[in-house]
Amino acid sequence: MSQVQPTTADRYQRQTLLPQIGPSGQRRLAQAKVLVLGCGALGSVIAEQLVRAGVGSLTIADRDIVETSNLQRQVLFDEDDAQAGTPKAIAAAKRLARVNSTVRVRPLVVDVHSRNIERVVDVHGSERPDVILDGSDNAETRYLLNDLAVKHALPWVYGACVGTEGRVMTILPGDGPCLRCIFPSPPAPGELPTCDTVGVLGSAAAVVASLQVAAALRLLLEGRSGDVRLTALDVWTGRFYTVDVREARRPECRCCGAHGLDFLDAPAPPATTLCGRGTVQLRPVCQGDGLTLSVVADRLRSAGAVAVSEYVVRCALHSPAGVSLSVFPDGRVLVHGVADESAARSLSAKLLGT
Ligand SMILES: [Zn+2]
Repeated sequence: MSQVQPTTADRYQRQTLLPQIGPSGQRRLAQAKVLVLGCGALGSVIAEQLVRAGVGSLTIADRDIVETSNLQRQVLFDEDDAQAGTPKAIAAAKRLARVNSTVRVRPLVVDVHSRNIERVVDVHGSERPDVILDGSDNAETRYLLNDLAVKHALPWVYGACVGTEGRVMTILPGDGPCLRCIFPSPPAPGELPTCDTVGVLGSAAAVVASLQVAAALRLLLEGRSGDVRLTALDVWTGRFYTVDVREARRPECRCCGAHGLDFLDAPAPPATTLCGRGTVQLRPVCQGDGLTLSVVADRLRSAGAVAVSEYVVRCALHSPAGVSLSVFPDGRVLVHGVADESAARSLSAKLLGT
């Protein structure tokens, strides 16, 4: 018996009934290009909702692999992904292809930093997004994204979540405040609570991500008119606070006022501690040293249990116990289960010579 293919009208009937969308809005969504930067708690909810809603194409950029500790809130992933240590962008794309095969999903396993963000976002190319959604889990990436967005007039939707609280803001460069108009500088390390220190409730992340998607759909369908919202919320107390910030642009803003692109102009830091658990990312010191994943795997075999895929080599070390490495084709190394960056660096130097 042949399979009955659902038509586009069937698939989207419940949302084209909405006066905010309708059949013409659905056709507009089908032309939209969206980028989600980071595919963790926020990014996985964002990606799923956008693909189900029928955007034309979705690029997912993420640097990390799936781990068991992600499964509590990162809705696109399952135990098989964690067991295999699949890169999040790849696991997300595989899952999303089963949800809506009519959407073009581009997974990018990449660490986004100041030297490559313009290339990843394809600011001058055919993949330039209509809107970017912030699924990152760190201030470093958000302030970098803000610089990029102001420089290239790209709208983006900021989202942040920790504990039971979250914040969402639409940023329309030229038509409202940028991130630095509202939050002039990133918090100092240790100044604010993070997922590492206080945890995060999955439902809080889902609410923040849902508000980000609604803001992005509104932007794609209605353009830049209307209010520009900043929402702060706590799902535990039920308190939501929303303010129209369209007039909150500051002429003296370091970024959109004085055009100081401090984060885009800075070099990429050599090491970064990732949010969520004791993982340190080491960026390659030099590119193109000819190390292939199979050579990396051979080097690591005496140090622990090695698993190789086309995307990553993973090694669970015999010693110290509980520590593992993930090495990517671009030369990046994630060291899991270490206390700090110096411990990660010395392990990597000892085992990989980098
Ligand atoms: Zn600004």
